[in-house]
Amino acid sequence: MTTDLTDSLTNLQTTCNRHWDTELTDALQYTSLGRIRHDTRHHWWTHSPSRALDTAVTRLRIGHTRLNAHLHKLGMTDDPHCPWCPTYLDTPEHLLLQCPRHHSHRTALLQSLYPLLLRRPTLADLLGGSPDPGLAFKILKHTRTFLQKSGQLHRI
Ligand SMILES: [Zn+2]
Repeated sequence: MTTDLTDSLTNLQTTCNRHWDTELTDALQYTSLGRIRHDTRHHWWTHSPSRALDTAVTRLRIGHTRLNAHLHKLGMTDDPHCPWCPTYLDTPEHLLLQCPRHHSHRTALLQSLYPLLLRRPTLADLLGGSPDPGLAFKILKHTRTFLQKSGQLHRI
C-alpha cells in the first residue's frame, strides 16, 4: 500500500469518526421532543449517583426507550400501547405526564416542582429542557425521583 493511499484511508477514518461524533451529539440534542437545549457541558444530565437513572434519562431525552411505542416502531413488539392503558401509546410523555398507574408519584413530582414555580411542566421541562441550567438540574433531580419511585426503570 502506498503512503498516499494509507494517508487517504487515515483521513477517511478521521472524517468518519468526526461524523459519528457529530451524529451522536445531534441525536442527544435533537430528540423526539424537538431540540431540548444546547449545552456545551458534556452530557450534564448524566452525573447522578445512579448509572441506571442516567441511562433512563438519556434514553428518554433521545426517544430511544424500551417503552412499547418505540419497540413497536422497531418491530420488536406487536402492541405499542401502555400496559395499563390499552388505548394510549406507551411513550415517554404518557409515562411521565399522563399514565394513571403512576398518579401518586406524579402528584409528588408536581408538588416538588411548585417551589420552582413550575405548575404545568412539559416533557421537555421534566427532562432538563429549561434554558436556565440551575433550574434544569433541579427539575431533573425530581424527575429522577419519579422514575425511581414509579418502578419503571426496567421499561425505559
Ligand atoms: Zn398508561
